[in-house]
Amino acid sequence: MHILVQKFGGTSLATDERRAQVASIVSEAVHEGYSPVVVVSAIGRSGDPYATDTFLTMVRGIHPDLPKRELDLLMSCGEVISGTVLVSTLKSLGLKAVLLTGGQAGIITNNDFGDARIVRVEPAEILEQLAAGYVVVVTGFQGVTESGQITTLGRGGSDTTASALGVALNAESIDIYTDVEGIMTADPRIVEDARILDTVTYNEICQLAYQGAKVIHPRAVEIAMQRNIPLRIKSTFSKAPGTLVTNMHPDREVGTDITTDRIIAGIAHTPNVTQFKIMTTDASNKQLTDKRIFKAMALADISVDFISVQPEAVLYTVSDEVAAKAVQILQNMDFETEVVPSCAKVSIVGAGIAGVPGVMADMVEALSDAGVTILQSADSHTTIWVLVHQRDMVTAVQALHKKFKLDI
Ligand code: ADP
Ligand code: MG
Repeated sequence: MHILVQKFGGTSLATDERRAQVASIVSEAVHEGYSPVVVVSAIGRSGDPYATDTFLTMVRGIHPDLPKRELDLLMSCGEVISGTVLVSTLKSLGLKAVLLTGGQAGIITNNDFGDARIVRVEPAEILEQLAAGYVVVVTGFQGVTESGQITTLGRGGSDTTASALGVALNAESIDIYTDVEGIMTADPRIVEDARILDTVTYNEICQLAYQGAKVIHPRAVEIAMQRNIPLRIKSTFSKAPGTLVTNMHPDREVGTDITTDRIIAGIAHTPNVTQFKIMTTDASNKQLTDKRIFKAMALADISVDFISVQPEAVLYTVSDEVAAKAVQILQNMDFETEVVPSCAKVSIVGAGIAGVPGVMADMVEALSDAGVTILQSADSHTTIWVLVHQRDMVTAVQALHKKFKLDI
């Protein structure tokens, strides 16, 4: 059996016309001899009648402490609706199709309602349906606990469903269909001349995704990477070949890493973060002070990023949403704190960064020429991050895109 996982996002399923396009992509795969497992997101985006965020607005505000278990039941409905509509569309093309919920598809998760992790996949039911000649449509973004409670997987959860199924079924490929023609050198919404990348490594796309490129969820990449299942990002609306995510160069021997002249693959950005700089000059026991700061954040469930522990200060960022809570905590602990709200993290990512001198120098030059102030920076072997004021974010991304010639 040649199993292919095909995942379609909310915008791809938004109208009758689009669903017809989705069905014809699935139908084509069937006619090419594949057994497709089709993962669907809920229809549309916030505000659309059957979008997950729309369901949430119905209960938000009723009580400050909404029941998490029931919220997951509510949030799991959007995919049941889109899946049912898609099965009907596939049938109208003469295909045999069946819908399975996450639980029916054997996706077992932990008990973390709202942000559950997949612990294993029991693919027997899917395999049985595929063997009987059915296209198996699976509701994305959800699973079931050992005791049968419905859970959801958090933002980008349908990508994770697709990857987990791809791995469990040892699929030939996991194809993520969306509204862009592949992974681009930057978000096309802010860089007009962003280009499609033909290939990227798992590592590069994982970094891009973690640093804010919303095109695929990083957890989905990590899962596919474990078993080296090729991931392809493609457009539902065009025949463009899309982006292949793999460790292997298609033209080279198995096991050979991609080595190209490309230093930077792309640029990602994360808006809406607040920078904290806590002075620890007076601390009699610096290490203990540092520990207390991070412990206090963890206890308040505030996730911190861009951490820099320096001899006389501790720097980090949190998302704007939780900034006020973090300020309060630090005040209660009597720390002298500088707060810079409305910042953005801009990252350049590329497997070629390691060991290439001058990349940081080029980055600093491009940003200072564009009049952008760097508030903080950090680097790893595949990524260089800078923190800038949010008002400079678009300028920064565009300047870097140009500097590293990503538009050519
Ligand atoms: P879906 O509903 O199909 O899951 P998403 O909105 O999650 O779609 O992801 C697709 C969007 O990701 C694109 O419309 C694009 O604006 C955005 N995006 C951000 N960064 C990138 C990038 N580097 N390459 C491609 N798309 C990107
Ligand atoms: Mg998505």
